[in-house]
Amino acid sequence: MLNEIKANQRNKISLATLLVGLVSISVLLTLTILLVASYQSKKKSLIDTTLTLNFSSAGKMSQTIDSLFKSMRSSLYYSAGIFSNINAMNADEVYSNLELMRHSSNYFNSISVVDETGLVRNVSPESVGTAGKYITTEAAKAALVSQKPYLSKPYISVNSKRLLVFMSEPIFDKEGIYRGFIGGTLYLEEYNILNMIFGSNPTDKVGSYFYIVESDGQVLFHRDTTRLGEDNSANQVVRKLIQGQSGYEQMVNLKGEVLLAGYVKVPENGWGVVVQSPISVVYEQLRRHITAILLYAILPFSLLMLIVIGLARRLAKPFVSLADLVSKIGREKVELPEGKQHWNREVDLLSKAVRYALTAIKKQTDQLTHDAMTDPLTGLTNRRTLEAIMHKWIEEQTSFSIIIMDIDRFKSINDTYGHQAGDEVLKHFAKIIISAVRPSDVCCRFGGEEFIALIPQVAAEEAYLVAERIRNTLENNANPVGKPITVSQGIAHYSLHSDSAEGLIHMADQALYKAKESGRNQTIIAKIRSEEHSH
Ligand code: GH3
Ligand code: MG
Ligand code: MG
Repeated sequence: MLNEIKANQRNKISLATLLVGLVSISVLLTLTILLVASYQSKKKSLIDTTLTLNFSSAGKMSQTIDSLFKSMRSSLYYSAGIFSNINAMNADEVYSNLELMRHSSNYFNSISVVDETGLVRNVSPESVGTAGKYITTEAAKAALVSQKPYLSKPYISVNSKRLLVFMSEPIFDKEGIYRGFIGGTLYLEEYNILNMIFGSNPTDKVGSYFYIVESDGQVLFHRDTTRLGEDNSANQVVRKLIQGQSGYEQMVNLKGEVLLAGYVKVPENGWGVVVQSPISVVYEQLRRHITAILLYAILPFSLLMLIVIGLARRLAKPFVSLADLVSKIGREKVELPEGKQHWNREVDLLSKAVRYALTAIKKQTDQLTHDAMTDPLTGLTNRRTLEAIMHKWIEEQTSFSIIIMDIDRFKSINDTYGHQAGDEVLKHFAKIIISAVRPSDVCCRFGGEEFIALIPQVAAEEAYLVAERIRNTLENNANPVGKPITVSQGIAHYSLHSDSAEGLIHMADQALYKAKESGRNQTIIAKIRSEEHSH
């Protein structure tokens, strides 16, 4: 029955599962909320930090370029002074001055002097190969015509096929007459002053990088050299630089990548510096942040789970054992558990209620069992129980003697003193039987005024002594009616006289009959069949 009950419970939620589930859900929810909140705020702060960091880097670079450019400018300006008497200088003099200039500052990849007719008077290094030729590039022509300090856009030189920018200062003689210009170039794709200062592959370890654009948005400097000279004016932050703005923002570049860019204009030459980090840099840091939180959460969470599982088990256990206990009622002897307190109020209440109910049930069933086994008048074992005990003993092959007792002339007692008095006599006799035997012996009211005593492990002769003690006690003691009462008794022995309960009772009854026949108030042991035959 209990197993049936248990089988039906398989698809039901156990208390332990319920508690563990509830705690898991609440912990997971809390953790999720914590993670989402932490993720959002961390993301915002990381983006802000990266933006301001990039902005300040761009600002510093802008300052560096600004002062570099001023130095380049003044270097050209002072050289222009040296060449004020250019028409009096020969090619070698020009060349050695240019060489000196180029090597002393490292600002320019090449320097040349051009006279007012557009003739290249000389160039350093010599390998450029334009010395003695007329200028061809648009930039040089523009510089010559302008007669002012000049800065070109990036362009590809016709002679060397190099991508370069060109800056120049006009040369005036002592009379203030325009005599040409001195021009310096930066080879954008080669080793130059910019990558000497900022590094040739300027990418920091978190993935940020920078590039420089000139005032119209063409790329002057980029870690990806293939992009040098490229028109980047469609780019969102470059557009702002072209408009003269500096700042920082999250933006999408022309390739569709999300970037955190800081951008600052260089005041001196109108160039712009952009320092940017892909947003993935932020996500990578976020991922590490979240992983760290999770790692920190695992230990306390596991501990909490262990505690909850332990608690839930301890909480559920008494319910299961109570169910076990209650399901046993009526099937087997139920031992009441010790009345110890439980720390959980509901469990304690329930176990107390169950214990209370069990005690009451036990009392009732004990009473019922007792009633079913005993004779209500005398309190002795009744006939049914006696027969059960005999069958049991015979099955166990426990030897025993049986004494059948029948009060003599009981009918006349009833007739003389009344049925009530007869009952009193029966109770009186029952007490005598009980006091004459041992507690382990069985005393039974077999019916009417007939009684039976079962005396285990005792031979018929010893049982005879017991029977005689009963008979004498009844005869010689005061009784409820005053007039002497006697009893006749027959004795049989298992397994001497019979192998069956019915046979034994029959044999003892025969002996009793003989005792009645022989004048009553006596005890007779049943005859063994062979003895009977021998008579
Ligand atoms: P004998 O010596 O031959 O045994 O004579 P007896 O009168 O005892 O014999 P019998 O068996 O004929 O009578 C038994 C009487 O016991 C009959 C009945 O009225 C009486 N009796 C049986 N049960 C009870 C009982 O529970 N209470 C009372 N008061 N009398 C009972
Ligand atoms: Mg009788
Ligand atoms: Mg009788």
